[in-house]
Amino acid sequence: MSDVRFFGCNLCEAMCGLKVTLDDGHIREVRGDPDDVFAHGHICPKGVALKELHEDPDRLRVPMRRGPRGLEEVSWDDALGEAAGRLGEIRARHGRDAVAFYIGNPTVHSHRASLGVQVLAAALRTHNVYNPNSQDSNPRLFACLQVYGDALSVPVPDIDRTDLLIMLGANPVASMGSMWALGDARARLTAVRKRGGRLVLLDPRRTETAAICDEHHFIRPASDAAWLLSMLHVIFTEQLADRDRLGAISTGHRALERAAASFTPERVAPVTGIPAEVTRRIARELCRTPRAAVYGRLGTCQTEFGPLASWLIEALNVVSGHFDREGGVMFPLAAADVATLARLLLPLGSAGSPSSSMRCRRRPWRRRWRLPVRDRFAASSRSREIPCCRRPTVRASVAPSSSSTTWSRSIST
Ligand code: SF4
Repeated sequence: MSDVRFFGCNLCEAMCGLKVTLDDGHIREVRGDPDDVFAHGHICPKGVALKELHEDPDRLRVPMRRGPRGLEEVSWDDALGEAAGRLGEIRARHGRDAVAFYIGNPTVHSHRASLGVQVLAAALRTHNVYNPNSQDSNPRLFACLQVYGDALSVPVPDIDRTDLLIMLGANPVASMGSMWALGDARARLTAVRKRGGRLVLLDPRRTETAAICDEHHFIRPASDAAWLLSMLHVIFTEQLADRDRLGAISTGHRALERAAASFTPERVAPVTGIPAEVTRRIARELCRTPRAAVYGRLGTCQTEFGPLASWLIEALNVVSGHFDREGGVMFPLAAADVATLARLLLPLGSAGSPSSSMRCRRRPWRRRWRLPVRDRFAASSRSREIPCCRRPTVRASVAPSSSSTTWSRSIST
């Protein structure tokens, strides 16, 4: 008997909708769900290969224990009892930080597992908690924690309504929108151009995304922060910012203006490799395009000044008037706000708090550029959201709970 079931792929952030056809309980094929609001039927080869993964004879289906005769099957009670006992021994002998755990995408994309992880973190009380962000995104989370008061409040470009998207160190055509959940990325990016918008990319490499952009500039690695400061310099000196709105939603922008004062496009051009006239033009276009967004990813995070570059991307969206605006950067509407739930259920939980794996390196910045930001920069949001929720059964906003969350000193001398 044939049956069709629908799932969300949990292998990466794109969360593409899957249409799985079964014959007598066995998978016949995996295809994209054409009605999926994220990916519109698109899936990558990994999604198609889920059938092979599911049927792989080596896939772990029951608890196994390595004994004298190799791996042998044990009951769940035995497996969990032994794991808990040995974890307790290790903690008693070496301390709680002797235990580390890693949370991967499939866990993060399960509400039950995400909540379970909070329970485990609270029980183990270890500082050594890792996830894919530990590898490539913690500077971005750090910046959001500083700006919006919550590391999990991450604004993303409102791609389906924007007219100008400036990307730094990002390759969404390959990644499907890291920290963005951009299913069918190529189609949605090219749609920006089809409706008369523009795509601008700064990346040291000619990537898959570069091939579909209007402009690609080869920025030198680790110079993103300098370029972002020069963008802010142009916006402040040419009076391109809406000062009234800026004052209404943020504090500390005068200090940011002073910090950017010496970073003229002409001065940073030899560092970044981006000609000054290009930087000035892009800054003007950014401010004069009502629906525009700046997006930075792995390439801006995994460099010497990753936390600062991430912080400055948030600043640039706020200062240029594109934060919390349609077609700008906005907070997605979560199907369920697991972080808030975890905080309610577990006062000692770790969601939203900086863990040891989130610490950033600040000294190199101080040593080289000595940016004198001594003030605070805070941004507030009216919590508008992008209407892209696929499963609107439980609605909760991930926007800041306070109207005046702080962007504290993440760069200082
Ligand atoms: S892009 Fe591929 S791996 Fe990622 S969610 Fe979609 S099908 Fe799964």
